[in-house]
Amino acid sequence: MLGGSIGGCLAAEVLSSEFDRVTLIEKGDFSDDVSDRRGVPQEKHVHLLLLRGKQVMEEIFPGLLKEMEQAGADIADQGHDVKCFHYGQWKNRFRTGVSAHYCSRSLLDNIVRRRIRANPRITVLSKTRAMGLLFHAEGAPCVRGVLLDESVPDRELAADLVVDVSGRGSRMAEWLAKEGLGEVKKTLVETKLGYASRVYRRRPEFADRWKVLLVLPKPPLNRAMGVISPIEGDRWLVTTGGWFGEFPKPEPEEFLRFLGTLPVPDIQEIIRDAEPLSDVAGFGIPGSLRRHYEDVPVWPNGLLVMGDALCSMNPLYSQGMTLCSLEADVLRKQIPLWKRGGVGTNTIQSLLVNVIEPAWNMAVSEDMRFPETQGHRSLGLRFHHWYGSGLCELAASHRLTLQTQVGVTNLVVPPSQLFRPEIAARVVFNKLRPRFGRTVSHPHA
Ligand SMILES: Cc1cc2nc3c(=O)[nH]c(=O)nc-3n(C[C@H](O)[C@H](O)[C@H](O)COP(=O)(O)OP(=O)(O)OC[C@H]3O[C@@H](n4cnc5c(N)ncnc54)[C@H](O)[C@@H]3O)c2cc1C
Repeated sequence: MLGGSIGGCLAAEVLSSEFDRVTLIEKGDFSDDVSDRRGVPQEKHVHLLLLRGKQVMEEIFPGLLKEMEQAGADIADQGHDVKCFHYGQWKNRFRTGVSAHYCSRSLLDNIVRRRIRANPRITVLSKTRAMGLLFHAEGAPCVRGVLLDESVPDRELAADLVVDVSGRGSRMAEWLAKEGLGEVKKTLVETKLGYASRVYRRRPEFADRWKVLLVLPKPPLNRAMGVISPIEGDRWLVTTGGWFGEFPKPEPEEFLRFLGTLPVPDIQEIIRDAEPLSDVAGFGIPGSLRRHYEDVPVWPNGLLVMGDALCSMNPLYSQGMTLCSLEADVLRKQIPLWKRGGVGTNTIQSLLVNVIEPAWNMAVSEDMRFPETQGHRSLGLRFHHWYGSGLCELAASHRLTLQTQVGVTNLVVPPSQLFRPEIAARVVFNKLRPRFGRTVSHPHA
């Protein structure tokens, strides 16, 4: 396992039931139980684990959710407990039955890392960097291990299977090209994203009003979001970020000023009187990045690439950790077959790509709402934007639409449900109605 963050830990745990020895190689300090890991700088920003990801993680690490709760994670219904401003209006607070565990990313990772350290079949090489792949000299391309840095006495680590989970900065494409396996194509959907976050002491007077305060944009008119999210230790993690340069510099005054530019000033007004407990952390990424390993003509046996190393999505859609879980689930089902010679790693790699495809399409489609995003806008996409904006507006007051939308974004309800007649009729009616009169809302729905 090249990389010991969330993807690496999930995959290592799954593989430990199929192999006697799993070695997890992490360039950072794996034993570090506190935050501030340089290999995972995003841990300072709000991380929402979608329901589908939560379900799969709990299957892989039974008892994980209880442990998170005992460590201080707060459970919030995604409709009732989230005060949300979206598409120019406050949403009614209907119960959705979809709840999320709110905590810091480092709390989740530390629990998972402790599980890995307790697994006797997993050996962790902490503060060790993978430097390249080792291939069998003869025959079709087949991986025989990993080349490590000088921190270990024996730099060649033999392996039957190598999984690259080293994140967005993965060098796998370079290593394959060096081996003569061809250029790996990549797609970058440039959106010039940035985040800034700061931890505050939670203000108790808001405890019975909402757990999460979320302000989302109406694209393309607005380009930034903000959220107050509860984390362990009776704290709030406040994150703001946006597309195409719409995010603040990581400085206290600028952070507060920027929160006042969101479509409603509520976060700024609440945070102004809250006690800060950290500096402001910043993060910038050029956009969603996908590496097309599915197009490598001859895929080496014994190699898989997953997590952000395969596809690193616009984080504003909160899908990364859930995709890691779903990909680990693919390994859980496929690796027993691979061991018996029933499938090749090329087939498993294609299945990993199938996992990311719908999420990628959704993220790209949303990013294309901004005119600066490069790409072809087909008729289908334009319909999708038209219908999607109607859905967002309707979800503010229509219970079924909100519940369905929350289920779909949490990957537990099929997207086709957004087109069921009870919803579609209202969306279309509301979209066309302004031409003739007032938009219909559904305050009692
Ligand atoms: C600002 C921000 C906010 C986000 N918010 C959310 C969210 O709300 N919900 C969500 O689900 N996702 C979110 N994500 C995405 C999520 O953080 C990632 O999808 C997830 O961490 C990917 O996990 P990973 O294990 O594949 O890679 P990473 O977490 O990037 O970890 C890669 C690991 O590999 C190690 N490594 C790298 N190179 C080597 C090497 N050569 N040898 C050994 N080790 C190496 C690194 O040290 C690191 O530990 C967010 C991302 C960002 C940037």
